[in-house]
Amino acid sequence: QYEEPLHIIEGPLMDGMKVVGDLFGAGKMFLPQVVKSARAMKRAVAYLLPYMEERKRLTGAASAQGRVLMATVKGDVHDIGKNIVGVVLGCNNYEVIDLGVMVPAAKILDAAVEHQADIIGLSGLITPSLDEMAFVAREMERRGFTTPLLIGGATTSRQHTAVKIAHEYSGPVTHVLDASRAVDVVSSLIGGRREQFDAANRAAQAEIRESYATRRQKPLLTYAQAQANRLTTDWDNHVIASPWFVGRRYLDAVPLADLARYIDWTFFFSAWQLKGRFPAILEHPQYGAAARELYENAQALLQRIVDGKLLTANGTYGFWPANSEADDIVVYQDDERRTELVRLPMLRQQEIIADGRPNRSLADFIAPRDSGVPDYIGMFAVTAGLGADDLVQAFERDLDDYNAIMVKALADRLAEAFAEYLHAQARKDWGYGRSEQLTPEDLVAEKYRGIRPAYGYPACPDHTEKGKLFELLDAGRQGLVLTESFAMLPAASVSGLYFSHPEAKYFNVGRIGRDQLESYASRKGMSVEDTERWLAPNLAYDPAAAPVTPL
Ligand code: SAH
Repeated sequence: QYEEPLHIIEGPLMDGMKVVGDLFGAGKMFLPQVVKSARAMKRAVAYLLPYMEERKRLTGAASAQGRVLMATVKGDVHDIGKNIVGVVLGCNNYEVIDLGVMVPAAKILDAAVEHQADIIGLSGLITPSLDEMAFVAREMERRGFTTPLLIGGATTSRQHTAVKIAHEYSGPVTHVLDASRAVDVVSSLIGGRREQFDAANRAAQAEIRESYATRRQKPLLTYAQAQANRLTTDWDNHVIASPWFVGRRYLDAVPLADLARYIDWTFFFSAWQLKGRFPAILEHPQYGAAARELYENAQALLQRIVDGKLLTANGTYGFWPANSEADDIVVYQDDERRTELVRLPMLRQQEIIADGRPNRSLADFIAPRDSGVPDYIGMFAVTAGLGADDLVQAFERDLDDYNAIMVKALADRLAEAFAEYLHAQARKDWGYGRSEQLTPEDLVAEKYRGIRPAYGYPACPDHTEKGKLFELLDAGRQGLVLTESFAMLPAASVSGLYFSHPEAKYFNVGRIGRDQLESYASRKGMSVEDTERWLAPNLAYDPAAAPVTPL
């Protein structure tokens, strides 16, 4: 029926993918099904390829609509979202070159030149990557690029792209919210609509920059005022929980079946862009069927991973005597509380808070030194990602992106489940959790006393403090390391602090002023400029502008 293998690709296979792409665009097909369809396409093409090598050399390959070069920036290991975007673009007949994770700017731009990329897409998960993306944009300007730049990943936003990246580069810079938007944006930027699209995008970004400048000017309390409005605890009548051991403990190769019980499946579905609470999502009127199939496939792969011990879950946690001194948490070597192991400076909310509520800092959850109360802090670092790379590569060799992405998503879930499991253990060690009667569902809903804030999250946004955590916990022994941007490797890892205070809860530090930044930098022993760079998303002022005297 077909004279050339190429005609099979350009005919029925492409037609099929077009149907998939259209249905996905129309919200009638869902991401897991798209990724599975892409797998069928990829395998079919691979089967035909040996028959067309000769022909291809003579006529040139099946012409893609355009070439998209993608990379996760230096220091970052985020991958799942970028993989998904790559697959979806591939389905729509774009050639995708994925450089992987932790890719330096020079390598990205050299590859873009070499492959004559029509679009460059940058991805990142953690806030320091925002800075790295701005650097890549600056480099593109310096090297005279005109290629459109796409920005995506968990901490990126339209706002940030407009305010921090777009002005660095005179070519088009566009934020892409998720895979469902990627095709639209890429086709607009490559096709005849480019001028119009770019103009509209620039206008929208100018508007965002303006409203951002106004918002940033909203007044703050002074740091001293914010400190005066701290959360207070009646330490005299506060019962301190004392853990039964002090120092760190290691957990080696925790049985994965023990962890799997604590998986929060709601987040698994959201990784696959199916939004809704588990288990109700399985009966969702629109995508219940897609969710059920995904869940079945995930369960089967999880069973294989558990039975074959294909991933290794290692962890470390510990408790140390601690007291607060203003907004620092001082960690002591032992119960004598004379030798300081480390200081953990904390940030405090500085925005004006209504209803007489406090300006919070995590330091408030630890008894002040002058209260004389012998308090404690806990720390943890866990991974379920050891072995994931091998598994992913095996699936990729088998042209199976579906299961490659599934492995990463499951490893992430197991790491979060490990954090939940270990937190329950820590509450028992601490004493106050010994009588807990909670189901796995209760645990996932965090129906317990205490919190485990993670560095890089809103209550403690400074990623660099993970360095101290990893050192105290000796996380390296368990196979966990930090990148230069303080992302954790393996990617499927979780770390943080434990607080036992009954009123401890998560909050958002939000915008801080220059007065607090300077105090924090000096307590941390880091230059003001470096600290400003790491905390850029929290600054209520423009570090490049001259200081103004607060009213
Ligand atoms: N069950 C979820 C839990 C992860 S999100 C899952 O499986 O993915 C919740 C975690 O994020 C918390 O346990 C805490 O470690 C971190 N977190 C959430 N909000 C935070 C905040 N405001 N400050 C610091 N850490 C926060």
